Amino acid sequence: MIDKSIEAFKQAKEFIPGGVDSPVRAFKGVDSSPIFIKKAKGAYLSDLDNNEYLDFVQSWGPLIFGHCDYDIEEVVIKAVQKGLSYGAPCLNETKLAEAIVGLFDNIDKVRFVSSGTEATMSAIRLARGAMGKDDIIKFEGCYHGHSDSLLVQGGSGMATFGSPSSPGVPNDFSKHTLVCEYNNLNSVKQAFEKSSDISCIIIEPLAGNMGLIPADLEFLKGLRKLCDENNALLIFDEVMSGFRASLKGASGLVGVKADILTFGKVIGGGMPVGAFGASAKLMDKLSPDGAIYQAGTLSGNPVAMSAGLKSLEKLIENPSIYEVLGQKAKRLVEGLKQAADENNIPFEVTSRGSMFGFFFSSKVPKNFSDVLKCDFERFSKFHKKMLEKGFYFACSQYETGFICVPITDGEIDKCIEAAKEIMKEL
Ligand SMILES: *Cc1c(COP(=O)(O)O)cnc(C)c1O
Repeated sequence: MIDKSIEAFKQAKEFIPGGVDSPVRAFKGVDSSPIFIKKAKGAYLSDLDNNEYLDFVQSWGPLIFGHCDYDIEEVVIKAVQKGLSYGAPCLNETKLAEAIVGLFDNIDKVRFVSSGTEATMSAIRLARGAMGKDDIIKFEGCYHGHSDSLLVQGGSGMATFGSPSSPGVPNDFSKHTLVCEYNNLNSVKQAFEKSSDISCIIIEPLAGNMGLIPADLEFLKGLRKLCDENNALLIFDEVMSGFRASLKGASGLVGVKADILTFGKVIGGGMPVGAFGASAKLMDKLSPDGAIYQAGTLSGNPVAMSAGLKSLEKLIENPSIYEVLGQKAKRLVEGLKQAADENNIPFEVTSRGSMFGFFFSSKVPKNFSDVLKCDFERFSKFHKKMLEKGFYFACSQYETGFICVPITDGEIDKCIEAAKEIMKEL
């Protein structure tokens, strides 16, 4: 029974477009009504009707320690008591920047912003400003937030100059974004043949916004080489994969080095934080020392910095967390796959660190057009029935799932048992 959520959604729709502040929350992809959350603790969410759900969304990634982690809560409460915002520098900004720089040898300096969208938007401005070129390359199916240059779609398969994927994005902007196919190096070579004005390539080195699709190592190495040959910068968007796929993100798993890294989600421990980092030579081109403008009233917010710093400290002190979370993610997806196999349902799975994905498909997708061929109707039924049984998965096959520290093997096994029942009905 979710009567109170249904009523709350009706009311929200009167005052908020679509009833939500971020579209995916509306459950449109699964043709049902969103759950309104009353509170959350550890691995669980509680809704307005007092149903409990084992949460595999974790606020879309940030909460690697689950809800209400004691250590993070403690530093946040202390920070709150010292003032919510100063608009002036505070020590935790430097400490968090230092912690990040210490993890990546391709980053000397970091600038904080308040969202992943701001991080990628600013990283692209930095790349364009530093290289003095206007075009960028992105990949179909990768999501980098909702800034104009990145809400762009291409034709399928080949490199194309993009067209806006949303009304309100001027053609004059989108024409500077070349859209290529994920895991297809030829499409990137074509893009460099089409344009001599390419400043950067931006990519999720572990794609998490078309389901979970790892980039092939040879593909990433190829991108690095093409950037070097064409005097362009390589941006790894690690907003989702950063401190999630491994302590050093997807970069840490593949060993290919980008020129600019972008972060968000886990880096704020549940508070709104984004960041981008690069060599000192590049970062010093930003204002106030350099000419490339970038700013934010609430950037480096003291409360958000304290949450981010505590999360990162906990991860750095306990690097074995990733192995444990990785085993749990594997346990879950292998169990789900077995449940599907037993019922002859085509099903493929992936996991990297604490991230997992599954597709109702007979072949592992390598790019966005593969994902489009998955069985969305089956996914929708699966999602609805799992939710009824108290398991909260992302409400779209395009999303990635997350394991948090408080989730136990026993809870994962219960989830697999539920899936075994439900797969019989699909
Ligand atoms: C979530 C996400 C973003 C956007 O971050 P917001 O905080 O939602 O603005 C950018 N890039 C990737 C890879 C993401 O997963």
